[in-house]
Order: sequence, then structure tokens, then C-alpha cells
Amino acid sequence: MNRTGRDYLESIQDGRVIYIGSERVADQTTHPAFAACARTYAALYDLKANPANRDVLTYEEDGERYAIWYLKPRSAEDLKRRNRAHHRIARFCHGLMGRTPDAGGGNLTGLAMRPEAFDVGEGGNRDNLAAIWQHLREDDIFPTYAVVPPPGARNRDYYQSAGVKMPALRAVRETDRGVVVDGMKMLATGAVYAHEVLVGNIMPLAPDQKAESITCVIPLNLPGLTLFSRPPMNRPGDREFDAPLTHRYDESDCMLVFRDALVPWEKVIVHNNAPLSRSIYVETPAHVISNHQSTVRFREKLRFLLGVASLITRYTGARDIPAVRDTLARLAAMEAGYAAMVEAQVLAPETYQGGYVIYNRRYLYAALHWAMENHSAILDIMRELMGGGQFQFPATIAVADDPELKDMFDTYWTAGADKAIDRMKLFKLAWDVVGSEHASRATSYEKFFVGPAHAVRNYNFVNAPWDALHADVEALMASYGPGPSR
Ligand SMILES: Cc1cc2nc3c(=O)[nH]c(=O)nc-3n(C[C@H](O)[C@H](O)[C@H](O)COP(=O)(O)OP(=O)(O)OC[C@H]3O[C@@H](n4cnc5c(N)ncnc54)[C@H](O)[C@@H]3O)c2cc1C
Repeated sequence: MNRTGRDYLESIQDGRVIYIGSERVADQTTHPAFAACARTYAALYDLKANPANRDVLTYEEDGERYAIWYLKPRSAEDLKRRNRAHHRIARFCHGLMGRTPDAGGGNLTGLAMRPEAFDVGEGGNRDNLAAIWQHLREDDIFPTYAVVPPPGARNRDYYQSAGVKMPALRAVRETDRGVVVDGMKMLATGAVYAHEVLVGNIMPLAPDQKAESITCVIPLNLPGLTLFSRPPMNRPGDREFDAPLTHRYDESDCMLVFRDALVPWEKVIVHNNAPLSRSIYVETPAHVISNHQSTVRFREKLRFLLGVASLITRYTGARDIPAVRDTLARLAAMEAGYAAMVEAQVLAPETYQGGYVIYNRRYLYAALHWAMENHSAILDIMRELMGGGQFQFPATIAVADDPELKDMFDTYWTAGADKAIDRMKLFKLAWDVVGSEHASRATSYEKFFVGPAHAVRNYNFVNAPWDALHADVEALMASYGPGPSR
């Protein structure tokens, strides 16, 4: 199946239970909070269905075509093809959406690339995973993931100083048809728009937390599942002009609450095995394949930020002042340096078991860490470049609806050759990436979407070649002694 945007919109009107506070959302494709972003996802499906993009966004196997994020890479060329597709999608949304279908698709494809990882101890089910992966690619499914247990469920040795009790998702009983689960899982970005969700544990559970280890891939309309949305940022009557990025790219984040929900056996991939529920992400290419997409996305975002920063200075008239040029040069160096970190992952691939290849892990984790550490600082530089620009314009472009007000607006807000409306358009857009509610949420996203900072640093620690590094230093030390110098 190769869904069009229209097919996609119909397919997500599936009766899932979404709440904004106490309001039940009847149809996310028409609700003012979600409709515009649903159209963005539909446009992504149309992009893929467009024959002109066939070779970039799909691949052929045994006479069938599938979305390329389901390609298991067996060569450097396969890695490049996946990378090109991530770029195309991230460019389409300027890197401002974390959960496009290629993100979750990569995660599940990575899991399916090493089925043996599911054979450690009891409770892993590689056959179910293989069938789920087939279904995802055949039915052109957009999967998202919620793989963080709430704080009370994490291994106390690593994550808690005192027991914070929260009802983490856990298996409560088994039936002939499946596992009944109850509790919460966080934080599913894109859950309002995706078809299915991978539920699991990217952070270690305590070994005795077997019931919490349940890992499954389920439709978002599973009976017993409720999606609690954070406050959406699009409100009735808002105009795209006043917050264009919010309008198009507010991808949603939901807490998932399961109350006595039956997960069919065939959807369960780990059960009653706490260490396995975490190890599947690092003992398979899942983490690497999916996070390469994250770094490509961030690269496109940096490119966009650099373009916005430069235009801001053009509109403030400060672009040619040496100190401002210097600031832009710094941003340009950061953007190019990050691009190199992403390219390097592709150009220095690693061979993997089973005849597969994966992106270079050291460069990948360095890039993830860099983005997490520098995103806020970059926005701060942009905020400085904007001065008070954002606050110098009328509240909304509705001002242009009234002839008298429009005349005042055009007269007093025009600056030289820059028309009032063009200046306002740019400053509204820039604020939406630097300072709006949407921008603020993105700032938290860039800090936490991979997990907390210490976890991201730990990936860098475990992948560093410590033995080789030590050996270099020790070889030098072995070349001299306490006697007279050579
Ligand atoms: C906007 C957004 C979208 C997200 N989307 C998704 C998604 O789609 N799917 C998904 O699975 N997850 C997603 N996440 C990530 C996730 O759900 C958590 O927010 C993230 O793992 C951090 O956990 P926490 O919020 O409980 O923070 P906590 O773990 O409570 O951490 C709070 C602070 O305490 C520090 N801290 C806690 N424990 C330690 C420790 N042992 N050592 C040092 N410092 C510590 C952390 O570094 C952090 O600064 C998203 C997060 C955000 C913000």
C-alpha cells in the first residue's frame, strides 16, 4: 500500500480516545487544535505517493514498493538512500517535526534487524516482531513510540533517590487472547496523528519490575487506551500568518493511559523480562537507525534557523555591522559543523551482524549530544539578534482587515523598502521558532526527546574506544623511563 494524503486522513479517524483537558476530541482531522498539522502529515503522505519522489522515498522488494524507512540497510548505498529520504522529509517541515513516519519506522526496522536480541531469557517474541514489521511496511503505517516509564517505574539505582510512586504501565493479567495492561507511559509525540505506537522501556527497569517490561506495538484506538494531550497551541480563529510554524507543525505530545486494556498476544514483543525490555534498543540497531533520522532532522532545523537569523538582521538593518556579521558567521560555522557530523555518520558506516550496515555510532551520539547542548544557546543568539522586534508589531494581522487601521499600519510600520506586512511576517515567523509557546516546547523537545542528558552522554561513553585511547597513551609512556633522556 502507498497511501495518499486523503487515505491517510481517513485512516486516522479511527475512534481513538483523545482528551484536551475534559474535552473529548471527536475528530482530530477537523478539530481546530489538530486539523492543520493533520494536513501537514497528509501532505507528507502525498509527497511519498508522488511518482517524482518514488526513488527517494520508497524502495522495491520482491515486486512490491514500501516506504524507505522500512529498508533494512545491507550496504553503504542503502544507508545513503535512507539518509536522503530523511533529508527530503525534514526539509519539507524544516526539521521542526520530530515524529514524522520515518522516525518510528526506523526504530521498528532497527529492532527487526537483529531478532536474536529477543532470545535472551524468557519473554521475547521475535516472530511477533517480524510479523509486526511486515504489517507496518505493507500497510504503510505511521508508527510513533512511547518508551519512557514514568519516574516511579525506573530503576532506583540509576534514576531515583526516593520512591516516586506513579502508576507505570504494567501487565496485570493474562488471558487466552493476550495481556491485560494498566498504567501510564510517556510521552508519545505525534500520537494524535500516528496509526500505531511502540510501547516499551528505553530506560532500565529494576530487575524485579517484570510486569512493567511489557513491550508491544498497538493501534492508537486500542480499547482501554486514552490519550491525554498537553495543551495544544492552535486555537480557534488563530491565523497562520501570526504563528505559521505552530499552525503547521504542532505535532502533539500525549500521555498514554491504559485502563484494563487487552493487548493481543500477537502484538507483544517482550513480556516478563525487565532487562530485555531495555536491551532490545541497544542490542539491535534500533537506537542508531532511528536517531540518525533525528540528527538529519536537526541538521535541517539548523539550516532553517540560520536562514531566519540572517533575514532578521536584514530586516533590522544590522546585517553589515561587523559585530552582527561575526555572530552570523558563528552560527554558520555551527550549522556547517553539525552538517559534517551528520555526513560523517554516512561516510564512515559500521558493519553489523546479519550482513547489515549501520551509521557510525560515535559520530551519531556526538551529534545527538551537540544538538541537546547547543540548541538553546543558538535560540538565545537569535533572540538577541531580534532585539525587541516581535513586540513592536500589532497583536495580529487582523489589523489589516480594517482599512483605517491598515493605513496606519502601512504608514508607520514600513521601514524603507521593507513593507510593514513583510516585516511583520518575518518577525512573527522568527518568534515562532525562538520565543513562542511552540518554540518553548521545541526547546524542551531538543533537550529530552532522546532521554535525559546523562543518558545521552552515557551513549557517548559506552561507544568511545577507551582501550585504544589508553593504549596510545601507554605506548608513549612505555617509550621512556626514569633514566637520562635520549
Ligand atoms: C516535548 C517532548 C517530547 C517527547 N517525546 C517523546 C516520545 O515521543 N517518546 C518517548 O518515549 N519519549 C519522549 N520524550 C522523552 C521523555 O518522555 C522524557 O521527558 C525524558 O526521557 C526525560 O524524562 P523526565 O521528563 O521524566 O525527566 P526526569 O527523568 O525526571 O529528569 C528531570 C531532570 O533530572 C535529571 N536527572 C534525573 N535522573 C538523573 C540521574 N540519574 N542523573 C543525572 N540527572 C538526572 C535529568 O537530567 C533532568 O534534567 C519527550 C520529551 C519531551 C520534553
